[in-house]
Amino acid sequence: MDPFVAQLAHLCTAHRTRAKWVFVPTHALGRTLGDRLVLEGTDWANLRFVTPLEIALRMGAPFLVERGIDPSGEEIGPALIMRLLLGLPEEGGYFRPLADQPTMAQALWMTVRELRMAGVRARQIPPEAFVSPAKHKEFRALLTAYETFLSTEKRGDMATVYEEAVLHPDWCPIQPADCWTEFPDAPWNPLQRALIDSMPGERVVPRAFAIAGSTLPRRYAGAHVERIPADPRTSALACLMAPERSQPASLQLFHAGGRDAEIEEVFRRILASGRSLDQVEITCATDEYAPLVWEKACRYDWPITIGPGVAAALTRPGRALLGLCSWIETDFTAGVLRRLLESGDLALGGVDDLTPGQAARLLVKAEAGWGRGTYDISLRRLAKHYRAVADDADRSDEQRAASLQKAGRTERLLGWIAAILASVPATAEDQQVAIHDIVDAALAFLAACAAKASALDGVAAVALQDAVTDLRALGSFRCPMLVALRFVRERIEGVSVGRDRSRPGHLHVSRLAQAGLPNRPLLFIVGLEEGRVFPAAVEDPVLLDSERQRISSALRCSSDRTEEAVHAVFARLAVVDTAAGGEVCLSYSCRDLREYRGTFPSWLMLQAYRLQTGDPSKSYPHLKAALGAPKSCVPESAAAALGDAGWWLDGLKRAGAAAKPSVLRQFPELAQGIRAGEAREAPAFGAYDGFVPAAGKVLDPCARERPASSTQLQEAAECPFRHFLEYGLGLQAVDEGERDNDVWLEPMLRGTELHDLYAAMLAKCRDEKRKPNFRKDWPWLLDRTRDRLKALRHEMPPPSEEVFERETQEFIADVELFLKAENDLEDGRTPIGFEVSFGRALDADSSEPLARAEPIVIDLGNGRRFRLAGRIDRIDQIGPSSFEIIDYKTGGYFAPDWQGTFAGGRRLQHALYGIAAVELLKRTYPRPTIARGVYYFSSAKGQQERRLIERPSRAATTAVLSDLQQVIASGTFVHAADESACKWCDFGSACGEHVSEQAAAKQGDRKLDAYRRLVAHE
Ligand code: SF4
Repeated sequence: MDPFVAQLAHLCTAHRTRAKWVFVPTHALGRTLGDRLVLEGTDWANLRFVTPLEIALRMGAPFLVERGIDPSGEEIGPALIMRLLLGLPEEGGYFRPLADQPTMAQALWMTVRELRMAGVRARQIPPEAFVSPAKHKEFRALLTAYETFLSTEKRGDMATVYEEAVLHPDWCPIQPADCWTEFPDAPWNPLQRALIDSMPGERVVPRAFAIAGSTLPRRYAGAHVERIPADPRTSALACLMAPERSQPASLQLFHAGGRDAEIEEVFRRILASGRSLDQVEITCATDEYAPLVWEKACRYDWPITIGPGVAAALTRPGRALLGLCSWIETDFTAGVLRRLLESGDLALGGVDDLTPGQAARLLVKAEAGWGRGTYDISLRRLAKHYRAVADDADRSDEQRAASLQKAGRTERLLGWIAAILASVPATAEDQQVAIHDIVDAALAFLAACAAKASALDGVAAVALQDAVTDLRALGSFRCPMLVALRFVRERIEGVSVGRDRSRPGHLHVSRLAQAGLPNRPLLFIVGLEEGRVFPAAVEDPVLLDSERQRISSALRCSSDRTEEAVHAVFARLAVVDTAAGGEVCLSYSCRDLREYRGTFPSWLMLQAYRLQTGDPSKSYPHLKAALGAPKSCVPESAAAALGDAGWWLDGLKRAGAAAKPSVLRQFPELAQGIRAGEAREAPAFGAYDGFVPAAGKVLDPCARERPASSTQLQEAAECPFRHFLEYGLGLQAVDEGERDNDVWLEPMLRGTELHDLYAAMLAKCRDEKRKPNFRKDWPWLLDRTRDRLKALRHEMPPPSEEVFERETQEFIADVELFLKAENDLEDGRTPIGFEVSFGRALDADSSEPLARAEPIVIDLGNGRRFRLAGRIDRIDQIGPSSFEIIDYKTGGYFAPDWQGTFAGGRRLQHALYGIAAVELLKRTYPRPTIARGVYYFSSAKGQQERRLIERPSRAATTAVLSDLQQVIASGTFVHAADESACKWCDFGSACGEHVSEQAAAKQGDRKLDAYRRLVAHE
């Protein structure tokens, strides 16, 4: 029996009507004790459980209010401290330069609060207490700023309330005729201690068990607690540290292969015990376990109360708000928004015909990048495309209707995103935002966009709204956007919801330091992993142990923190009833499945094992041997299963390999996966390697109405399997949206922009019938380049000013380099065509005379023809009817990559564009011929290298194209022969790790004759 509960029972019996006050750390604890007394047979009246704060407010708050001081909470403490810290000079500062560290505000606030509750004020902090004068100066200034804030804003924190309370003993609700006591060894701080000690009435010293084999923490030495010896027969855990003083205790111990498996085993044991849920308590050594238990209870529909509650950040509204912060922090990166939409944490309020999943897909289709401007540009462009398809008379009615619907949805999605963007304030010229604007944006988002799919979500939404609203107390404070978002994040992460005391009919979950309070006969202690149960003895990052000792002996040092945490657990375990009828089970997870590593038992597990065996000499290897095989999600018998899945897994385990046919019958996809894996290992080239004759008929470029592009054909030659995935199955690799903070313009976009500028410059010279002249043309080209960069900056803002500056300089340098090279162009060469497109609709403003909308037909002989579309970067006239086609490459040049003419079909552009250019030039020039193709590496990175490839014979070109066409038409979509193709491929997970070896092993198959010929073309 818990000696303190016994003492209360005695008080209630001995003083039936007298007012009996009990100081408890929380009301939940008081109510639990009250319930417990009744359940254990003690009727009580006039027993009043109070917290020190409740008494302090009753004694001190009226006087504070009378003086106009608001004794409000301290929820915005970290944000307020950060605000005050940012107001201190950065130069010579100690913490100030570290202000952007994520947990700095919280750490400072905890220390400030601890000092205040120890009665320490700024003026009492001596310089000699600190290891650094700069630290003393700044910390004292911070504390002074906090005290000034309280007095000028007329605010009172907890310390103010307690200090005021002790000045008004007449207002104490505890009367001299009353008696009072306190929960033993509660972690009261000095101001709480002073208030409690000042109470009138009869003081009843609380009783607690002495912990055998353990010394009291330093700060508990003078506590008013009567320590009595425990009876090991009924309170075996009081001898946890002295197992030799007890008989072998009836404890259960187990370990499990993961936390989920651990909780599953606990639930199975509860079921097997036959006890009602309100006879069971699960106490968690770490807070991470509470949501696991809660989720499992929800899955099995078991009523549950969670003492520590569930972090609001784990609920949908919490995740949605954190997602909003990430989205803003990453400069509105579309990938972040897309993932948020896919997570199910968002609701598209006001957009009825669009699910979040569809919205995510529209974002991918729109190719939105980042920055506020990207959504308007990309989604408008997509909607315009859908409307153009809807207006296309050549399309079927169904296609047009579907396209019209998509256009509408895209516009509504744009409207929804635009509303969120409009609510998020932009940083002003000073790079700051007003905190209340961010608060308004977060609240609007929470109300309109956060999904709420359970009662807990609803509660969390309300709690989060209150928590974020508290930041309004910072008034007109302005700070950088990232700091403001951190304030919001801290508010979200500090909220827990669904906290509840133990209730009838409910399974109860508690923290280890509150274990056993409801005195339920079946107690599980879970999560006893090494290094997770007690805080590590690391010093406070703000005030070192030596500094704390010099400021006040009442402050906790690192060793105090650990010793007090250990004592709190010992004190709770000591009162757990292990007499007949009481069962205690301790467990830990021996695997961390997230980090894929083994974990080890806490020393508490070992002590429990020593107690269980009555042998203090037992060590960890003995414990491990005694625990046996770890428990898993598979139950030990069908009867122990919690549900259908457990029952099924047990059957599977018993049947062993014999169950495989039945399982595969039930899950044909698994059977197919096994068949596919085996087929890929076999030497024959088959369906699972990309042999799809039916798709070949559809994808054959000679059978398709739609023109092929040279890029498409080159990529098909590089990896036919990828061609099948992209064009046969229509798979699209999803851009993860992760933004590289060192990059502004992606290489492809940068290249496109350079191409456009090159073309604009040369077209201008062509129209003016002259050669480029650096001196004359550079100002014009520089202006145009700057304008374009400015527009891009608006469309997709750079991650930082430094990156923008660096890339701008490099970009302009490349443009300048290009113009200088054109200035020195040899006589006899005239650029005549730029970005000459064919087979594609011409832009209304296109001024390229050689371009045409019709595709070029490539004849492969034997009646095989295919249509080609493309865009030739540049055509130079080098003789009366002789021309060169030029393809710009804006990356680096690596000579070994540019060997040969066709590179096994992976280099076709010069040949295909050579044929196309003749067709295009014919209309203007008599019998034009293409001398060669040139790959021109125009930038500084490519050192202006020119790789010339003489025009291949038509027969050679036809042979390569014929082999490629046969590969596609025969449906032999084999995996890439050259594994370098896989290096940057987005479809790697469709192929597996050993794809190159598997593909090489199949090369002897006759079906791959055409492919072998194709890769042999040099
Ligand atoms: S990973 Fe390699 S084999 Fe697979 S699709 Fe990509 S390039 Fe082809």
